[in-house]
Amino acid sequence: MFTFGIDIGSTTSKCVVMKDGTQIVSSSLLTGGIGTRSPQEAVRMALEGAGVRREELAGVCATGYGRNRYEDAEFHVSELTCHGLGAHYIFPSVRTIIDIGGQDAKVISLDEKGRMQNFLMNDKCAAGTGRFLDVMANILVIPVGELEKYSQEAKEPARISSTCTVFAESEVISQLANGVEMTDLVAGICQSVAGRVAALAKRISIVPEVCMSGGVARNGGVRSALSEKIGQPILFSPYAQLFGAIGAALYAFEKTA
Ligand code: ADP
Repeated sequence: MFTFGIDIGSTTSKCVVMKDGTQIVSSSLLTGGIGTRSPQEAVRMALEGAGVRREELAGVCATGYGRNRYEDAEFHVSELTCHGLGAHYIFPSVRTIIDIGGQDAKVISLDEKGRMQNFLMNDKCAAGTGRFLDVMANILVIPVGELEKYSQEAKEPARISSTCTVFAESEVISQLANGVEMTDLVAGICQSVAGRVAALAKRISIVPEVCMSGGVARNGGVRSALSEKIGQPILFSPYAQLFGAIGAALYAFEKTA
């Protein structure tokens, strides 16, 4: 029995096909989120990867910022629930998820079954989200996927004192003009995001084990800075950006099995 999860985010569309609620058969991840053609294309890619037709799916669940605009789904479920289910599937012992996506950051507490107990969210300010990293990567003309590599080569992380993305942008440009190394700037940028999210996380009780989800989890510079700031190891899976879609496929399985 196949179920399907689609996570339509602000920047990226993610899909997962699961077999019997236990096995990930295929997945897709495509830049372009709500309002673009990426969700449809991501669906096509994931179905093709699994060799499964739409009619063969027992259930489809949509999650993410754009979930309610996706009509071809039996279920529409909040990303808090889906990230919880997805993280629990990959790391059964996880009790706290730090999810940093393209336009918000959330800290989610789970019970031992992966059900959401409590959460806190920053969706008011781009600092402390993927948006901050995207803006800075753009200024530095570095692909966002390479920020990790640069940050690892830093000698002394630059201090980014502005908490506002627009002011931080000017600050980064002026530090570049003053000859600050790119690697040190990137490390400072990762520290800045980690600092904002750590402040959010400290407002909720951080019960171990802790993992990250969302696209920013793929940035090891943010992961290690965040781990240091919250004083806890942070588990990482290469599936981190797909946790919402995995959780959605699991939700569809729970409801249709
Ligand atoms: P959303 O669901 O809001 O679209 P995601 O959880 O998919 O957000 O995360 C998107 C963010 O992930 C982007 O804003 C970007 O900063 C970051 N990101 C995307 N790809 C990578 C990568 N390869 N390495 C590091 N960060 C990445």
